[in-house]
Amino acid sequence: LSGRIETAAVENELADLAGVLNAMFARLEGAFARQAQFTADASHELRTPLAVIKSNAELALSRPRESEEYRRTIEACRKAADRMTGIVDGLLLLARADNGRLDSRTEAIDLGEIVDETVGLLTAMAGEKGVRISADIDTVQLPGDAEALGRLVSNLLVNAVLYNRPGGSVSVSLRAARGSVVLTVADSGCGISEEDQSHIFERFFRVDRARSRASGGTGLGLAICRSIVDAHGGVIGFTSQVNEGTTFKVRLPLSRQGVSAIAEEN
Ligand code: ADP
Repeated sequence: LSGRIETAAVENELADLAGVLNAMFARLEGAFARQAQFTADASHELRTPLAVIKSNAELALSRPRESEEYRRTIEACRKAADRMTGIVDGLLLLARADNGRLDSRTEAIDLGEIVDETVGLLTAMAGEKGVRISADIDTVQLPGDAEALGRLVSNLLVNAVLYNRPGGSVSVSLRAARGSVVLTVADSGCGISEEDQSHIFERFFRVDRARSRASGGTGLGLAICRSIVDAHGGVIGFTSQVNEGTTFKVRLPLSRQGVSAIAEEN
């Protein structure tokens, strides 16, 4: 009889503990959701005044016969407004991902077309840096958020060009394989040191702040990539050698059922 009483007491304590833990998780979840909502609202509110600053700066720049100093000052304002718009858009996208609102806009996407278009858009920018882009792209349909997937591809490609060397190369491939699709972006750039490798997906992390800022970087690009990949049930990883280059690999499920297969594999 005494054994049974002890068992009942332990079960009661466990039930109490589970209740306390569940209440704590619910409060934490609520706090995370409120924080993400705040970031989304703040980013959204900042967009309008930023657009006003940008359009006024453009108007001021279009005035003829102004001094060089005047033009330089207004141009600096316009560039800063552009940069801030980039940060605000990035924060908005991260907040949407944090709130689980990214994959709610799920539709059938032709990822091959997105990769092809992005390569086309970046070829001129790469050419200016003396970097050659080559692409080998399968036609692949998958469920996803077109805007977010476009941003994923563009962030990886822009980095592969920016952190490259003159005369360097970027090769992009998109291959469908066993219920998933693999996007690979390989560059012959500066590489990432072992010390920095564990940080590059953190928000606002930049290896070389001065270089990243000069090239328009914000340190949000890869954090955004990871959130987008997570929201689509995929995985992102990379290998890198300093002074030799970096290869990013993204694996995305071709269907909702493919999500658990990828999770098991990794
Ligand atoms: P940023 O806007 O600064 O490019 P990211 O989040 O995209 O921010 O990248 C974080 C940091 O990771 C970058 O500042 C850069 O130092 C490093 N990095 C990203 N991609 C590459 C790459 N392909 N080759 C070398 N370094 C890279």
